[in-house]
Amino acid sequence: NELLNRVQQRDAQYNSFITVTAEQALAQAKAADTRRAAGNASDLTGVPFAHKDIFCTNGVLTTCGSKMLSNFVAPYDATIVDNFNQAGAVSLGKLNMDEFAMGSSNESSFYGAVANPWDKDRVPGGSSGGSAAAVAARLVPGATASDTGGSIRQPAAFCGLTGLKPTYGRVSRWGMIAYASSLDQAGTITRTAEDAALMLNVMAGFDAKDSTCMNHEVPDYRNTLNNSIAGLTIGLPEEYFRSDLSADMQQAVRNAIAEYEKLGAKVKPISLPNTHLAIPAYYIIAPAECSANLSRMDGVRFGYRCDNPQDINDLYKRSRGEGFGPEVKRRIMIGAYALSAGFYDAYYKKAQQVRRLIKNDFAEAFKEVDLIAGPVTPTPAFKRGEKTTDPVAMYLEDIFTIALNLAGLPGMSVPCGMVNNLPVGLQLIGNYFDEARLLNAAHQFQ
Ligand code: GLN
Repeated sequence: NELLNRVQQRDAQYNSFITVTAEQALAQAKAADTRRAAGNASDLTGVPFAHKDIFCTNGVLTTCGSKMLSNFVAPYDATIVDNFNQAGAVSLGKLNMDEFAMGSSNESSFYGAVANPWDKDRVPGGSSGGSAAAVAARLVPGATASDTGGSIRQPAAFCGLTGLKPTYGRVSRWGMIAYASSLDQAGTITRTAEDAALMLNVMAGFDAKDSTCMNHEVPDYRNTLNNSIAGLTIGLPEEYFRSDLSADMQQAVRNAIAEYEKLGAKVKPISLPNTHLAIPAYYIIAPAECSANLSRMDGVRFGYRCDNPQDINDLYKRSRGEGFGPEVKRRIMIGAYALSAGFYDAYYKKAQQVRRLIKNDFAEAFKEVDLIAGPVTPTPAFKRGEKTTDPVAMYLEDIFTIALNLAGLPGMSVPCGMVNNLPVGLQLIGNYFDEARLLNAAHQFQ
């Protein structure tokens, strides 16, 4: 109840929530009390948190930050929503995000921009900006989020939090509104790695409803948090410490790596030579997949519908024209173009070939190292409005985060200091299904 009041009183300044589900939260809290009294509570029973508004919640508005879904009440729960319900966690509502998870600043949301609690004139990052702001403002101790090209790690870094993007296939995508299906992965934004472990314990696992979800053993991620990391080999990709990365950013990350050396880790320089191709490949593949995924938003079956359509073409045109914001339209157009006959080989096919090269870079690196470390972002949080008129500048924000989505690898953002009085993050990249090692390394640092 106290947290709900806090959300109601304080969120006006951050705009991190789109929907507050007060009644449901109180009912869940009551049920959690009963369950605790009966002695069958799980770690998360009664623990408050909130969901990014990309996850379908039965009977609750699920907007994905878009006018297109501003009237969409999901008729079912996403698998991970169900997982948290079963665990008895208490969801306070649905968190703001960039429209359809496209963006790096939370400025493309139909529900307005979100303020970074560290400096309200700055962005919290995106697309999971609401998740990060709500945790940073202490409105909830943890939040679900999703990461297609950095949307968990970048906002976590900008808000001084811990972000975990699991291996592609570790967590079910069923009921998570699709942006780019071969890249999207659900994860968490929390204050600590320990909290992330507790949340991942609930979310991870096989789900027959998602054909890309892997049937791979789920350990108890808590059990290995306190393992020693002595002897761990951490690779430092030369491409992540470029000369145009500011001295302050380099220093913050290098200080963190020095800490790891003190804890007994070994550091090894490595190369991921195709890093520079990650942004161009991603900004073909992601729009291509989004242009297909978003074709279901047609004004007929659900979501926004224009007034007085004249005929079916008018209905499609105006519903989509009025329902989608400019960034979403830009991506749909890029994607449709890249997939069109005559251009497919030049763009989409090439991008897929580049994707394989990037995956191979990581495979080579992981023959020699256990984890890879580098910065999460090129800069700390930028000012609102600073990059809105220049989409390419916004896309360049993703330089360090995007490659691992193309490879399907897990990654974390761990707070590692301040630059210009703003928090910045250390990125840790693990091999496939190596979340336990990532969480262990992050926990030892914290
Ligand atoms: N900033 C990237 C994009 O706009 C990543 C978004 C995400 O991970 N959902 O596509």
